[in-house]
Amino acid sequence: PASVAAPFLSVVIPVLDEARNLGALHRELSESLTRLGRPYEILFVDDGSKDGSVDFLRLFALSVPSVKVITLSRNFGKEAAVTAGFEHAAGDAVILLDADLQDPPELIPDMVAAWRAGADVVCMRRRSRAGETWFKRTSASLYYRLLNRLSRFDIPHDTGDVRLMSRRAVDALNQLPERNRYMKGLFAWIGMPTQVLLYDRESRAAGNTKWNFTALLGLAFEGITSFSTAPLRWTTLVGVLASAWGTLFGLWIVAK
Ligand code: UDP
Ligand code: MG
Repeated sequence: PASVAAPFLSVVIPVLDEARNLGALHRELSESLTRLGRPYEILFVDDGSKDGSVDFLRLFALSVPSVKVITLSRNFGKEAAVTAGFEHAAGDAVILLDADLQDPPELIPDMVAAWRAGADVVCMRRRSRAGETWFKRTSASLYYRLLNRLSRFDIPHDTGDVRLMSRRAVDALNQLPERNRYMKGLFAWIGMPTQVLLYDRESRAAGNTKWNFTALLGLAFEGITSFSTAPLRWTTLVGVLASAWGTLFGLWIVAK
């Protein structure tokens, strides 16, 4: 089919208050994509920004036909923004990038090459975590160890959400009916031939991370409860033990 000769690429980018990064992002992205010489679309999903990001995005969309903008009615969180992006992406392959240039667009050609070589999913593993605190690095590593102990399939550590997915993989992902979408888990759950590329993660180009400690903790908890029945089993066990102990204690009182 024609799509094999000239595959169409979609790039999905969730955006929350990234006005200071959007100019550079758009420039670097367009350069990378133009150099690839394939037709493409860029799908920005605005996740309730309040810093004028939407105005920038509208401007891009007006001046460049390949840019599309989805605006969510409020801040729903990155997982929801990514979900909306994947649902609207039309590409034969869909690439997910952050807006802050931490995962630079220069990675795109390598991802596309790995996809053309047969991978349905190409994800990026961080060789280093520049600009992150010791606390974040240690807690992230402990968390992935725990998550993988508890869940029945491997959720790869140190691979961010940044990735390329084939149409087949995107369709599988879009079929999942989950409302609380822990993307890292869903990405891993669908399986399919996966290629991991190594890269050095940059620090944020501008602005601050949107994840404070509480938000990360919430996401971490969501991951464990969505992809493991261990917490359910533990609470059942605690319940059984408590009621057994209560019964025995009651009998003991009666006997006395
Ligand atoms: N983001 C979003 N909604 C949110 C939080 C973040 O769309 O509620 C976007 C953000 O604009 C960025 C990406 O998700 O493009 C990753 O966010 P961030 O850089 O803050 O995360 P980190 O790189 O620190 O994990
Ligand atoms: Mg970031």
